[in-house]
Amino acid sequence: MIQAKGYAVHKANDKLAPWNFERREVGNHDVQIEILYCGVCHSDLAQINNEWFEGIFPMIPGHEIVGRVVKVGDHVKNFKVGDLAGVGTLVNSCGHCEHCEDGLEVYCKEGVVATYNNLDKYRDNLPTYGGYSNTIVTDEKFTLHVSESLNLAATAPLLCAGITTYSPLKHWKVGKGHKVAVLGLGGLGHMAVKFAVALGAEVTVLSTSPKKEADARKLGATNFVVTKNIAEVEKVKSSFDFIVDTVSAEHDFDFYLSLLKLNGVHICVGIPPKGLEVKNVGLSLQLGRRSVVGSAVGGIPETQEMLDFCAAHNITAEIEMIKMKDIHTAFERMEKGDVHYRFVIDMATL
Ligand code: NAP
Ligand code: ZN
Repeated sequence: MIQAKGYAVHKANDKLAPWNFERREVGNHDVQIEILYCGVCHSDLAQINNEWFEGIFPMIPGHEIVGRVVKVGDHVKNFKVGDLAGVGTLVNSCGHCEHCEDGLEVYCKEGVVATYNNLDKYRDNLPTYGGYSNTIVTDEKFTLHVSESLNLAATAPLLCAGITTYSPLKHWKVGKGHKVAVLGLGGLGHMAVKFAVALGAEVTVLSTSPKKEADARKLGATNFVVTKNIAEVEKVKSSFDFIVDTVSAEHDFDFYLSLLKLNGVHICVGIPPKGLEVKNVGLSLQLGRRSVVGSAVGGIPETQEMLDFCAAHNITAEIEMIKMKDIHTAFERMEKGDVHYRFVIDMATL
């Protein structure tokens, strides 16, 4: 086994603290990565707090991982020692269902294996541990190539925030001529703005934070609406083809559905603590022939496509680098919506 160190939480709602643990030896199809940076996703906090389901503890969060390959297995074809590499939210899947065969591993019919807080049922049934650590061993099939041309720390958030917003925009063919609203300007939201703009759409940010307007415009949004200001919201009624909803807390769907045009699509990527509660959407759906849809991260081929798209268009996340020991200050700020726009841990500080 490989001796590794990380920051783990030992029971739900507890604090992260240094923890030594073991990674599996590098198998024939595996690569070992020295982790250099790891992004901090709202999902990390949600899982530490058992918001979605009962977690597996000790838990080492982190699924926005970038670093350098330090060892490869004998049968590895696509990576060599010294390459930059990334790992996102998935590390295994059944590999043979129709969705895996289509490169949609995240929708694996037998269940995907998440990078942390999961048991790898296709391998050893042992818990997976994430990127708040110094090293990781992954199958090359679940390992991504990362461009040398982009700022590496700012590339880390692409592995979750990036693909989670890129994937639905591509799936619903968002592009030129579309008006897109991005609801919530945090880690996912700011990537949604960048991608929607890069794909040619006209973007409005819907936010609870008036102070984020200048940033939203710098990211490429042409309009900014403070959602607490009802008069401003009234002005954008029935005006969007798509809403990309990245809000991490419970919110009123009816209120936002009315902002969609005829046939408009409300794309939910945010995951509030109790899941999405659609309580009373009135006749908003029927009277506008609108839809509410969801999307989960993205498959491995599409994640590589997104990373290549980012390299071609010089797209990375806006980041605030933190030391590992400051993770709880970052979580506190994240809970208040005070992210600009992704915290990234410098693993040299572990
Ligand atoms: P984040 O950086 O904390 O951003 C969330 C943003 O939502 C905040 O910055 C804030 O933006 C807005 N917000 C927060 N509380 C709100 C409230 N009560 N009402 C209205 N708006 C509120 O989080 P993130 O990392 O981007 O993640 C966003 C959500 O996506 C989380 O639920 C996360 O678990 C989920 N997620 C889903 C997937 C997936 O596969 N679908 C993947 C990754 C993450 P403003 O200040 O602009 O209002
Ligand atoms: Zn994430």
